[in-house]
Amino acid sequence: MEQYGIYIDGKWIKSTHSETFETKNPTTGEILATFPKGTKEDVRMAIEAAEKALPKWRRTPAPKRGEIILRVAQLMRERKEGLGALVTKEMGKVIVEGKGDVQEAIDFLEYIAGEGRRLLGETTPSELPNKFCMTVRQPIGVVGCITPWNFPIAIPCWKIGAALVAGNTVVFKPSGLTPLCAAKLVELFEEAGLPQGVLNFVTGSGAVVGQEIVENPKIRAISFTGGVQSGIDVYSRAAKLLKPAHLELGGKNPQIIMEDANIELAIEGVLFGAFGTAGQRCTATSRLIVQRDVYDIALERLLERTQALKIGDPLDPETHVGPVISEDQEKKVLNYIQIGIDEGAKLLHGGKKLRGGLYDKGFFIEPTIFEAEHGMRITKEEIFGPVLAVIKANDYEDAVRIANDVDYGLSSSIYTKDVVRAFRAIEDLEVGITYINAPTIGAEVHLPFGGVKNTGNGGREAGTTAIDEFTEIKTVFIDYSNRLQKAQIDEQ
Ligand code: NDP
Repeated sequence: MEQYGIYIDGKWIKSTHSETFETKNPTTGEILATFPKGTKEDVRMAIEAAEKALPKWRRTPAPKRGEIILRVAQLMRERKEGLGALVTKEMGKVIVEGKGDVQEAIDFLEYIAGEGRRLLGETTPSELPNKFCMTVRQPIGVVGCITPWNFPIAIPCWKIGAALVAGNTVVFKPSGLTPLCAAKLVELFEEAGLPQGVLNFVTGSGAVVGQEIVENPKIRAISFTGGVQSGIDVYSRAAKLLKPAHLELGGKNPQIIMEDANIELAIEGVLFGAFGTAGQRCTATSRLIVQRDVYDIALERLLERTQALKIGDPLDPETHVGPVISEDQEKKVLNYIQIGIDEGAKLLHGGKKLRGGLYDKGFFIEPTIFEAEHGMRITKEEIFGPVLAVIKANDYEDAVRIANDVDYGLSSSIYTKDVVRAFRAIEDLEVGITYINAPTIGAEVHLPFGGVKNTGNGGREAGTTAIDEFTEIKTVFIDYSNRLQKAQIDEQ
């Protein structure tokens, strides 16, 4: 079993505190590695190293910074099989998705490495003669990246890759449930030649390590992905320091099936959207809204196809659904299933923890389907597990009303062959992402990612917007008239 320290100033060192925690395989309960329960002092050391490394790193030409990011992507490509298996072992998603997590990181790092040759500003004419106007992007400084467990390689890469190419130095805190994937990632950055101190890594709880990252004034911006309550806490603490905090939070994503949809395709989509990653994606489909004319047939096909899903060892390529991440997550999901039953939703499939054999060692929950009325808690609150609420809608307007009547707004999907309706849905759905005839999951890294309402606070990761949260814009005026020219002041 591996024993890790914290990574400060290019070295793996001991934490200032001797207590450790274990990371475990959610399928087997096997202990994979131990990590320090980091302290505020550890974070301060990480910040000091990041501050020291900043002047040189920010002056390193951005294309050169991009080359190191690209090297990380290349190393990751070479090690994709092993890293993918590690994601599956530590997080529990099935092996194709474990490798997919790594592929998403590769895609993003390759994309963002090229940003080193753009980091675009703008030029505009001046209102005065012999004067030139432009904007340039500058790094913010030392930034904090705090990440969840469900995409233990991809989400850290989205943040760290963009922060580094923009010239910032980083203090990184991963989820306590997936620190091993994070540590392997840090090792890749080291191997790729990242100068010491540019990326620093401290494990430990959100309450100690996370809070110090948020509250230490030397960290100039926060990039956070996690749950809504944690996000509110991060945002309000950061606000007291007027510190920008980019938040990517939860979802309650709907898939709509209209009467003219290709039903087989729509059911295939919802199976992947709802039960892929055991429902533990921020973009997971947790509500299936079906127009009443095709409700019965859609439900029948959904139940048939769900019965055929294989739940088990996520390393087995035949498995469709693996375990949920932890005992706490299992309890939370089972509690929501009970809430659904208690509030009168009709349990159509699943609903139980699986027992016997391999199941006894891990946290396996049956893919669960409820027939629900819109307004029940299971149709409004994020569950983050393999639980789908099916809701009947009268028509398009009703479906959109239901889809929008939640506090979240991340992803959405509509299956229809009617191009007019598809375009209306693009306008009408109050979310950051809409798929037409595809499930709610499957973002591509060269497009912006994020949501509206309680899903975030307005920013977008990935795509051309990826660097926005990690750059300051400086406006520059160059006057070559050789006389004092005054904007807005009338000539005498
Ligand atoms: P949490 O909010 O519990 O934790 C996320 C990270 O923040 C962890 O590293 C955690 O540390 C840390 N943390 C928790 N509280 C604080 C705090 N007050 N201050 C600073 N850091 C803190 O989320 P989960 O890890 O459980 O992840 C699941 C959530 O993430 C879901 O709600 C999901 O929807 C959301 N998510 C959103 C995505 C998006 O892009 N919109 C993408 C993926 C997930 P630790 O747990 O180690 O103590």
